Amino acid sequence: MRLGILGGTFDPPHIGHLIAAQDAWSALELDRVVFVPAGRPPHKPGRAISPAAVRLAMLRVATAGDARFEVSDLELRRSGPSYSVDTLRELRERYPGVALFFLVGADQLREMHSWRAPEEIARLATVVMLARGGVRRAEPAVAVPYTVLPVTRVDVSATEIRRRVAAGESIRYLVPLEVVTLIEQNGLYRPAAGR
Ligand code: ATP
Repeated sequence: MRLGILGGTFDPPHIGHLIAAQDAWSALELDRVVFVPAGRPPHKPGRAISPAAVRLAMLRVATAGDARFEVSDLELRRSGPSYSVDTLRELRERYPGVALFFLVGADQLREMHSWRAPEEIARLATVVMLARGGVRRAEPAVAVPYTVLPVTRVDVSATEIRRRVAAGESIRYLVPLEVVTLIEQNGLYRPAAGR
């Protein structure tokens, strides 16, 4: 069994995440990709992040109906900042003998030096850089071995989605329709909500 793990804030999840996960599933011959929303991401302390329950709900509707995808709330059940190494340890315990592939964007991989226990992360899982748009490796060089996986270039970010909502612009087609509905229902990203 081969399991991909895609961690992130997912505030909100968007088609860039889904297409990258699909590309990884296909190229790495994964059985499943597990999306792991971060409780309190250690690398994003500045911005007010939407409630964990809402981010989880958005991910669930975004991946519902696709048997290749799964959502895990394991980082949300832990208190304090979410460290990837703890997540991988937990997954390793839960799925002994399973090959884990830790999928990270180039932007995230570049920060790897500041992660907790990067060497252990690389021991627990194969670190895979999701390379968009011809990026071949992370600069500056990363201390741990990783493989590069070219993925379809989709220039969508959660930051851009939040900006559009705040500006009253449409986000249709950038996120699944059910995610649009949840963003509206929860009044996310509007200036009135304090963002
Ligand atoms: P933000 O804009 O708030 O920083 P984001 O869109 O990068 O958010 P995250 O939740 O931080 O979303 O991303 C989770 C993971 O998905 C990260 O590894 C990130 O690099 C990757 N990722 C994000 N957007 C894309 C995309 N368009 N294509 C491929 N991978 C992506």
